Amino acid sequence: MYDVIILGSGPAGLTSAIYTSRAGLKTLVVAGPMWGGQLMLTREVENFPGFENGILGPELMTTIKKQAERCGAEIIYEQATAVDLKSKPFKITTEKVYKAKAIIIATGALAKWLGLESETRLRGKGVSVCATCDAPFFRNKNVVVVGGGDTAIEEALFLTNVVNDVKIIHRRDKLRANKWLQDNAFKNPKISFVWNSTVTEVLGEKKVEGVKLQNLKSGEESTLPCDAVFLAIGFKPNTEIFKNQIEMDETGYIIVHDETRTNIEGVFVAGDVADYRYRQAIAAAGSGCKAALDAEKYLLKN
Ligand code: NAP
Repeated sequence: MYDVIILGSGPAGLTSAIYTSRAGLKTLVVAGPMWGGQLMLTREVENFPGFENGILGPELMTTIKKQAERCGAEIIYEQATAVDLKSKPFKITTEKVYKAKAIIIATGALAKWLGLESETRLRGKGVSVCATCDAPFFRNKNVVVVGGGDTAIEEALFLTNVVNDVKIIHRRDKLRANKWLQDNAFKNPKISFVWNSTVTEVLGEKKVEGVKLQNLKSGEESTLPCDAVFLAIGFKPNTEIFKNQIEMDETGYIIVHDETRTNIEGVFVAGDVADYRYRQAIAAAGSGCKAALDAEKYLLKN
């Protein structure tokens, strides 16, 4: 029996683990076989405080994991396949069944990708799913953003602070983004649109040099030179195993009450699994701290 089981081992989950184990709570982190979250797929991280010259994503996660272990957290690399949040103690099934008085859900979210071989090959070499993270690497360059939702337009607007030119490639001729964002994008002189089009290939050997486009109405193909491709076609929170057990919105994000609480007493949430808005490692780490402190207070009373 654990005091706290933390599901997920990105910045949110491991920060929670540092706090709960330092508070003397018996803590288990179910990290999954692909531990570490989205930072394991990034290269240079320049915006996590404490690293003057930046740090590689996997190196940052390895350091945070060692810190959590040194503080006393037990980490297992098994996949959680089922949860039972309906009765207490809560139960988490991996290869075994683990029980806990409190749970912190920090299972994160995954960016959606187009599914192109070239996109995977050039990931971190000009293909990115995070403008906030990677825009500074493309100062005064020409970039494309794929997507037509709030994220795509927000990222495009953010990029204009740094880059020379942004072309938004959208598969339809109308944006899904809210009107305020649309109005700002339409009047920004650095942003232009390629409508009814999709990226069929990312071009370049060692780094992005352009994209191959297909017009979905005419079928016509064209090539657009660019230095980076920012994909913003949506995110999928990792909440499959919590379906029908916990309150979620229609897109699968867990609904948060009062910072880190869920609709189930004793179950807390941290990081991107409940955050479509900020999606930053440092924000996830901050919410991991809050979830741990809330879990600690809950356990004092229960
Ligand atoms: P989203 O609303 O699902 O938009 C995804 C966009 O990508 C859509 O324009 C979609 O095209 C396009 N798309 C999806 N799959 C594609 C594919 N395979 N190829 C090409 N294009 C594809 O995702 P999001 O923008 O990340 O937003 C997610 C949620 O977070 C939304 O509820 C949003 O309102 C919210 N959000 C809010 C804010 C804010 O309030 N400031 C900021 C960011 C996100 P279609 O339009 O044709 O479907």
